[in-house]
Amino acid sequence: MHYLQKYAQHALDIVFPLRCAGCQANGYILCPVCKTTIRPLTPPLCWHCSHTLSVNGSCQSCHQHFLQLSGLRALGPYQEPLRSYIHQLKYDGNTHLAQPLGQLLALAYRTYGMHADIILPVPLHEQRQRERGYNHAALLARVCASLLGITVREDVLLRRRATSAQVGLKVDERYQNVATAFDCSHAAATNILTARCILVIDDVCTTGATLEACAAPLFAAGALSVWGLVLALT
Ligand SMILES: [Zn+2]
Ligand SMILES: [Zn+2]
Repeated sequence: MHYLQKYAQHALDIVFPLRCAGCQANGYILCPVCKTTIRPLTPPLCWHCSHTLSVNGSCQSCHQHFLQLSGLRALGPYQEPLRSYIHQLKYDGNTHLAQPLGQLLALAYRTYGMHADIILPVPLHEQRQRERGYNHAALLARVCASLLGITVREDVLLRRRATSAQVGLKVDERYQNVATAFDCSHAAATNILTARCILVIDDVCTTGATLEACAAPLFAAGALSVWGLVLALT
């Protein structure tokens, strides 16, 4: 961060001290109590996509659309209070939240015994990033990667075109909406991706369409595996 930006942030922290995103307690981004109220996924979980299995042990989600991703893991279901924390990070400019949420992603990575050589955030389209001022997935990926000691690259996966918001679209429409939205930068890809295990990080996964669209160019560039790790599954 630029020196002046750091200074401005410091000044802001004095005028507006940190408050827990859950309970407003002073001095916390997310207090220990609010952290523990994030609900985990309800087992038994699908080994592939992490959705809760039905009573007969089958996975509805994989049955409807089997992801080409090597696998998907998530912290918890898209429910309160996690939903509100994600919303604050993404839309309310509470970028501080990337710290505790990124830590939880790193914890999930270890708990699930995942392995990655390189971490990539799902990119935002340039225009949206300019409007918002940051890419929330990149903030999460940076924190998570630094805690795990894994390289994070924000110049490998590129968003070729803006996509309309996925909210309100049916499963098929979601896939069509993002199908060709992503690409790899060729210079970066040929050097980095060949025979490597890639982990793509995002905030929320609904149908898997976005992660799937990210995985396609990564596999095409020679990636050995492409896993997804998100905060919440809907
Ligand atoms: Zn709290
Ligand atoms: Zn599944």
